[in-house]
Amino acid sequence: MAQTKINQEMKRNAECLRNQDTLTASMLQETPFDNLCLTSQAILERAQKQGRSKCPRCHGSRMFYCYSCYVPVETVPVEDIPIVKLPLKIDIIKHPNETDGKSTAVHAKLLASEDVTIYTYPCIPDYEEMQHEIALIFPGPNSVSISNIPLSLQTKCKTDTKGLSAEPAPKCAKLEPSHSRLMSEDKLPKSENALKKIVFIDSTWNQTNKIITDERLQGLLQIELKSKKTCFWRHQKGKPETYLSTIEAIYYFLVDYHKEVLKEKYDGQYDNLLFFFSFMYKLIRKAKDSAGKK
Ligand SMILES: [Zn+2]
Repeated sequence: MAQTKINQEMKRNAECLRNQDTLTASMLQETPFDNLCLTSQAILERAQKQGRSKCPRCHGSRMFYCYSCYVPVETVPVEDIPIVKLPLKIDIIKHPNETDGKSTAVHAKLLASEDVTIYTYPCIPDYEEMQHEIALIFPGPNSVSISNIPLSLQTKCKTDTKGLSAEPAPKCAKLEPSHSRLMSEDKLPKSENALKKIVFIDSTWNQTNKIITDERLQGLLQIELKSKKTCFWRHQKGKPETYLSTIEAIYYFLVDYHKEVLKEKYDGQYDNLLFFFSFMYKLIRKAKDSAGKK
């Protein structure tokens, strides 16, 4: 009961904020990245003061990193960029019309290059053979929550071996919480908990809907993230504030996956994925704030 009341209160507050001028709203918020475990961003501060620099590969003039070659610019030495180790592989499918410079998918490639691959649609892998160990982040009518991944993959595996792969996977999110926990923790061997790869779609909302209907992505388990408010400065007009930028979605997915599926304590292991994002966020916020004071 109390929880519902709090939720309602939060909803009202959120609506209240939304009705105000966005600048005022952003000033009322606390800086959301104050408590992250981040590598020193001094190198980004220095690079920012020096202005644009050259990409060591294509020689294009860029700020911080090259969004076409996925490498930092000359004023940002590679060894000063943190390396983030992920618990699974990530494929990012980028829409060809998406402006490269605006996408935050590059952040993931720069910071976790071993584990992240970026594909430009329609050149994407065939996931058919991997259906029992892969999932797609997409809030569709059949999507399940992160905590339901192990059980849903297992159900999928069974359904597929029975030769019923054409049947849609049962919506596991509807299971009683206690029942679901019993199944996933007690009856599921640990090895079967292993989700190997997660696919993100990096594009605007309209383009995402086109990619999602591609037949190569049909039949993949779809995951819905818990709703979080975006901090992205290129927030899409008319889209809910819960429509996250790609790097935010990856980060929040990994934190929840770590806690709810791997069942390990979260100590900031993936915070450095926001190394560029949080820095750019603070820069833009500072610029907005000082523009507001004038
Ligand atoms: Zn380049």
